Amino acid sequence: MSDPAVEAAQRAWLSRGVPTKFAIVDLADAAREALKPIRERHQQVCIYAVGRVCKHDGHRWPCADALDAYSTEELNAMTQTQSAKAKE
Ligand SMILES: [Zn+2]
Repeated sequence: MSDPAVEAAQRAWLSRGVPTKFAIVDLADAAREALKPIRERHQQVCIYAVGRVCKHDGHRWPCADALDAYSTEELNAMTQTQSAKAKE
């Protein structure tokens, strides 16, 4: 599973070269905050006869920006939620 926020935090951590008072989880939270505007723009919508697409760019979901902004776990959860709604 990938998580862009954790990966960014790990890169930031390693670039410092020495331990700091910040934990990886703090850096991941900071990275998630930085990704927030991108995540708000790139969300899935389900269009009849087309399927799941990004509401921002219209590309098939998950779009390239969504892959960079959401963790695999989040993308899987979104897919399951959308599938459950479609069955209702
Ligand atoms: Zn998008």
